[in-house]
Amino acid sequence: MKTIFQKIMDGEIPSEIVYRDGVCFAIKDINPQAPVHILLIPAKPIARLAEAKEEDAEILSHLMLAAPKIAKEQGLEGGFRVVINNGLIAGETVPHLHIHILGGRQMAWPPG
Ligand code: AMP
Repeated sequence: MKTIFQKIMDGEIPSEIVYRDGVCFAIKDINPQAPVHILLIPAKPIARLAEAKEEDAEILSHLMLAAPKIAKEQGLEGGFRVVINNGLIAGETVPHLHIHILGGRQMAWPPG
């Protein structure tokens, strides 16, 4: 069964796509937790970080290198936070790996 992110990727559900390349795409989060809240999603439906395999290393590094580019495009030169929620206890709600890119306000630590 397709996740909501696969449906967005396939154009079955509308979304504001802000970045796309051959490996990943990025959308605006529907329930933003900061003035800028982007989700960076690999096309490959890796369920979560803990399910990533050695063969996914290039995808993971690609995501990490894409994140600051997207943050810059979104005007977050001053800083941004990246978050991956892995598992229910961490707050994961969509079982398709995604990196939250958050910015545009002062972040607190520790996170909730
Ligand atoms: P997580 O809780 O880490 O699994 O993150 C899932 C994120 O997906 C949440 O921040 C949701 O607000 C977001 N989300 C769910 N459905 C959509 C959608 N249709 N378009 C954009 N973001 C969504």
